[in-house]
Amino acid sequence: MILTLNLLFVLMCLTIPGKIESIEKGIATVISARERAQIDLSLVFEAQVGDWILYATNRAVKVISEEDAKEIISLLEDKYHPVDVSKLPLQFKKIIFKVRSGNSDLTKDEILYLLSLKGPNNLETLFAEANTLRKERIKDFICIHGIIEFSNYCKNSCLYCGIRKENKVPRYRLNSKEIIDTAYDAVENEGYKLLVLQSGEDDSYSDADLIDLIVKIKQKMKVFVFISVGERSEKFYQEAYEAGATGSLIRFETSNSELYTKFRPKKYLKDRVKLIKAMIKMGYYVASGNMVGLPGQSLEDIADDLLMIKSLGVPMISAGPYIEAKGTPLANPKKQETRNNHTLNPESCDLSPESYDLNPKSQLELMLKFIAVARFMMPDVKIPVTTALETLDPENGRHRGLLAGANALMFNLTPEKFAKNYSIYDNKYREREKVWQKYGLFKGEESWEMLEEKLMLDK
Ligand code: SAM
Repeated sequence: MILTLNLLFVLMCLTIPGKIESIEKGIATVISARERAQIDLSLVFEAQVGDWILYATNRAVKVISEEDAKEIISLLEDKYHPVDVSKLPLQFKKIIFKVRSGNSDLTKDEILYLLSLKGPNNLETLFAEANTLRKERIKDFICIHGIIEFSNYCKNSCLYCGIRKENKVPRYRLNSKEIIDTAYDAVENEGYKLLVLQSGEDDSYSDADLIDLIVKIKQKMKVFVFISVGERSEKFYQEAYEAGATGSLIRFETSNSELYTKFRPKKYLKDRVKLIKAMIKMGYYVASGNMVGLPGQSLEDIADDLLMIKSLGVPMISAGPYIEAKGTPLANPKKQETRNNHTLNPESCDLSPESYDLNPKSQLELMLKFIAVARFMMPDVKIPVTTALETLDPENGRHRGLLAGANALMFNLTPEKFAKNYSIYDNKYREREKVWQKYGLFKGEESWEMLEEKLMLDK
């Protein structure tokens, strides 16, 4: 069987370290960086007063050293220094108070206002407010996703995409066994519990091939399967759901229908949205969203994208910065030469709709603003930090995304010999962060049940 899917995506949730203050009848009182909590010790009955444990929801998962605990605390550390509120513009203060009062129904003008904010004081406040909201609503339960790209063949000609059919990149396909083995390794050896299968649109896999793959994965391992295979018939998606697919990752790319068809020749936004809505109706856990910073996209378009995500009511956002891909019609060779500066100086960026372009500083800043505003508008939604954000800032992109209100991470699990050719954009950052996996992935029934509960609750 030939496989044309190209991404497998995995999720688990990060645990929180805490120190046991006292224990009574198997329940520990635990102090963490954020809270004092009552934690069930039934899985780690050896734990004693003074020990550090990792916990998720209200159950301890394992005992760890103080050194490990400090390491993970530093991953989520917020270096935010209180800003001078008196210096914030009145309109900004009004929006902050609105959000703080629990009203997440921002108007388009308010969204535009936030996306247009400039200057370190304003931006630090925006990110810190979003991060505080994330902490209040979701605590530090950061989920970890994994992605396996298992074919870079695509029949489409999207102007922005490095694997568009006309682009000269070495093509690859993983066969069924290679995909299943990769999934098995992620599940059994690393502790991942949710795999998303994603592909360029490649008809050399029939619907039946894909369904067979889902069935085989579900039979072989205990795992949630998400798919992301682009536009196929509703009949296919219904059958895939019945075969065991839990979720679907499908972006609407841009809510501007003109821009959509300009960048996706012969494709129409309304068809994509119809499919997304159909999947939601079928019961899929749908992740959807857009690209941020496409050439010609205005801040107003981005505000509309946020409103579209909210109106779709998806439990998870799939959005990322647009990054130029070599060889595509949108790539500008001159601008690509200046893409290596990853330092963010908010005052240096002019993000008026006319002026933001492919400068990575502006792109990063705009994306962080997008995440923060999304958190304001959808306090409980899952927002992953995409690999594209890490591409813009390999050192800190992930950390910055989380501190701007994101609550999930995406790891690439594509076998290395193939990964370099899944070049939807340039300089794709592929570092696997073992430290996150160490805390985010833990084995056992408990983590499965927690995730299952969470997926059901979110929908
Ligand atoms: N074929 C599937 C589909 O249509 O959903 C998934 C594969 S596609 C390559 C995955 C996503 O990559 C797209 O939804 C698009 O948003 C993103 N993408 C493509 N080119 C990109 C670029 N140059 N910069 C950022 N993201 C890009």
